[in-house]
Amino acid sequence: MQSSSTGPAAGNPVSPPWISASVAKLSHELATRYGDSQRARIQRGLQQVTAFWRTEDGDHAALEDFVRTGFAGDQATLDAIFDRLEHMLEQLGGHMHEINREFRQQLDLDLGPVLPLDEIIGGYDPSAHLVDDFFHNKLAFVVLLNFPLTTLAERLKDGPSWSRRQWAEVRLAQSFSKRIPADVNLGIAQAEAQTGQYISEYNIWVHHLLGAHGQRLFPPKMRLLSHWSLRDEIKASYADSSNGLAKQRMIQQVMERIVTQTIPAVVVNNPGVDWNPFTNAVTPAAVSDSDFLPAAQPHNRREPDIRYAMLQKTFLASKRADPYSPTAPTLIARRFDENREIPEARVRAMLEQVVNSPLVPQVAKLIEARIKRPLEPFDIWYSGFRPGSQYTEVQLDEIVAKKYPTAEAYQQDIPNLLMKLGFSSERAQYLAGNIVVDSARGAGHAMGAEMRGEKAHLRTRVEKTGMNYKSFNVAAHEMGHNVEQIFSLNDVDHILLKGVPNTAFTEAFAFIFQGHDLELLGLPAPEAKSEAEKLLNNFWATYEIAGVALVDMAVWHWMYEHPRASPEELNHATVQISKDTWNHYYASVFRKKDIVLLGVYSHMIDAFLYLPDYPIGHLIAFQIEEQMKKAGSIGPEFERMAKMGAVTPDLWMEHATGKPVGAEALLEAARRALAAVNEAAN
Ligand SMILES: [Zn+2]
Repeated sequence: MQSSSTGPAAGNPVSPPWISASVAKLSHELATRYGDSQRARIQRGLQQVTAFWRTEDGDHAALEDFVRTGFAGDQATLDAIFDRLEHMLEQLGGHMHEINREFRQQLDLDLGPVLPLDEIIGGYDPSAHLVDDFFHNKLAFVVLLNFPLTTLAERLKDGPSWSRRQWAEVRLAQSFSKRIPADVNLGIAQAEAQTGQYISEYNIWVHHLLGAHGQRLFPPKMRLLSHWSLRDEIKASYADSSNGLAKQRMIQQVMERIVTQTIPAVVVNNPGVDWNPFTNAVTPAAVSDSDFLPAAQPHNRREPDIRYAMLQKTFLASKRADPYSPTAPTLIARRFDENREIPEARVRAMLEQVVNSPLVPQVAKLIEARIKRPLEPFDIWYSGFRPGSQYTEVQLDEIVAKKYPTAEAYQQDIPNLLMKLGFSSERAQYLAGNIVVDSARGAGHAMGAEMRGEKAHLRTRVEKTGMNYKSFNVAAHEMGHNVEQIFSLNDVDHILLKGVPNTAFTEAFAFIFQGHDLELLGLPAPEAKSEAEKLLNNFWATYEIAGVALVDMAVWHWMYEHPRASPEELNHATVQISKDTWNHYYASVFRKKDIVLLGVYSHMIDAFLYLPDYPIGHLIAFQIEEQMKKAGSIGPEFERMAKMGAVTPDLWMEHATGKPVGAEALLEAARRALAAVNEAAN
């Protein structure tokens, strides 16, 4: 990790040549003017400003003038600057957000036809160039001159002893910790768009997959997007007692060919060919289930490492931003130190704690007993841990539609729903008064406010026949987000600390509400057995996704260590990393070596090291949920936690549960669940 105090202009690739002389002069001048007590602040401010100052920002006289007038040499001036900025940035962020919300209204809500105009206006982001603007008018430099930039190491080490105001200052400075040139940002956006496009069209027409005797296992027209729908088809096939196993084995074979890029290029998104993924033979489609014509004389030439050329695009584009981000100088550091704020080494240790857990072979044994065969590699996606329900979906639909014929009916019932979750009548009224329920065009989402006095929006789908159970379940989830958003905006002491440490935290709150949806309907809570099944399902999913995340992390390190590798070399490296990870943590459970399935996730190609968010999210959700169980009531505990605001995840979790972020809560819950399920079976 690079320290933020490595001398003037460190990390500034476009630093003007005269800058050191100006720094020496200013540092002496200001220290004489404000005294020794300000010396450290002066040094830091000058270093931070010059780390971003470019020739276009002005000559040495302009810099010197700016520093002389912009530096707050006494506490009263510093307080005034801080208060103004805190207020002004709230107004700016809040109103920008309002504009965004209004501009997206037609796209987001169930308001009738969408015009081409709505697409343009909904895609417009008025705040897209704010950071650039604030470097240009020097507001960013005022912040950098007076408030501290920090590394994650410093936030972790010193953060617990900082006052809330110090934390707010740190968050204020962080808004300007990078000054990435527009063309570099554009390159990142283009890489994102190109890889996203590649991924979104990577379909396999599975009716055209042939078994050894030419049999077709999948129905006509079925088109599975890699990896999501392929994986979900493996999950769904557990219910197919006649062909399920053959389908699962076939999809595994397809996935392996995608990872190794031995997949024939012609079979991607093409129903004009038949393909036997085991022999890799490709023939003109013998049946037609689309408008495509059968390909004449198709070749089985492999896909020429395009998957890895795409991944490399995201790496090369990200790498160009490195020199402009002094406190997090790699994409890896930006993901872990800035977005997640948990050091990579700790994340790795937590993930290893899950994949190495002695519970894994025990749960594996339970799965084998249920499927009545030894595990096969695709069983990392075993889907048989299912909470049973006393009600059918049809019954639930009926109950919900009667209760909530309109969005207004749901809106009116919010105080009542919140009281069922243990909020006092006063808090329930307060929260309900800050939520607006809208009828969503799509599946539903929660949109918080960004300034005090503005309301959070709960978007949910309401059919003409009333709300159905699925929408109610989603609405419960979104209401959890809304309640978090209201507390962490309106009830946090410094607006600069609004929010939660990262998205895993708000998701955890949302899942807690969602998990109580039956009680919200006035129905009995799920039984203990059903609860245990749900826990084991989450445990097994975390075991799977932890390995996927470890592969993603190792691949990014490999790319940074081999910046000039060819896509083919990246292919070989990814395949080797996938096998090594499998051999290390999975092979003994599955009794099979050298499997590459952990490398199949599409996010690995287009999402810039996003995958570790999933397992971390599971761990955080378990910690928060266990704490709520311990406290015995959701309402007051929810409020206490959510008011902490956006400090580091560890500090937040210490405050919430007495322990930093970790895997123990998940493992403890899984241990309990396993015991309960085994006991019920005996
Ligand atoms: Zn959510």
